Amino acid sequence: MSVLADLVAGIRGGTIEVVDLTAPLTATTPILMLPEPFGNTVPFGLQEISRYDDRGPAWYWNNITTGEHTGTHLDAPIHWVTARDGEDVSQIPLGKLVAPAVVLDFAGSDPDFLLEVDHVTAWEKEHGPLPEGGWLLYRTGWDVRAHDQAEFLNADETGPHTPGVSVECARYLAEQTPIAGLGVETVGTDAGAAHSFDPPFPCHSFLLGSGKYGLTQLRNLDRLPATGAVVVAPPLPIIGGSGSPVRVLALVER
Ligand code: MN
Repeated sequence: MSVLADLVAGIRGGTIEVVDLTAPLTATTPILMLPEPFGNTVPFGLQEISRYDDRGPAWYWNNITTGEHTGTHLDAPIHWVTARDGEDVSQIPLGKLVAPAVVLDFAGSDPDFLLEVDHVTAWEKEHGPLPEGGWLLYRTGWDVRAHDQAEFLNADETGPHTPGVSVECARYLAEQTPIAGLGVETVGTDAGAAHSFDPPFPCHSFLLGSGKYGLTQLRNLDRLPATGAVVVAPPLPIIGGSGSPVRVLALVER
């Protein structure tokens, strides 16, 4: 049998499970909220055009409104000033959108937890090297808060508090590892407090600046093994787009 026939047989037979890593898209899907004077994205929206009525007797359809960075989405390098001449979402090579993934599990850590280089190297000692051209999926358990914008952003008077990656670790992942990108459960790839880091937003700055990608608002990472999953994460081919909502699927051998 061919590899592709084996793949389809595995999915139909249940030896390969397709796991949905995507947050459902509704008007209440959490979105990033930047303070004044910065611009902000719109929430996801559905506007009915017709529903088997005078506006269209046999058909139902909607217009959608969304930001590029609304819900589960991919950040292209051009999203950040450190890659201002880099790839937009339409330019990402397709072969990179089907890629191996590993999961580093730090669920249960406190809201200001930061992934450090030592965490990554300790993980590699146990599980082997990070995958060439693959995703590092960083589990924090934050997906359980995704039903509520306030809980998800977890902001107080000092700003948002959500887990992320230290400056040194972001630089390490960008410059010293072969990964294609970083996937997280939070509203963005950076920690909630990363506006105060030096440089600010180091995951965006270093990873996108190195031509790598970000995936945000993932869920169900607890259903993936530490190694061995394959992630399918194709953004819409928005010409000039800085990001795009994505239906992120993981293939897992059972
Ligand atoms: Mn984004």
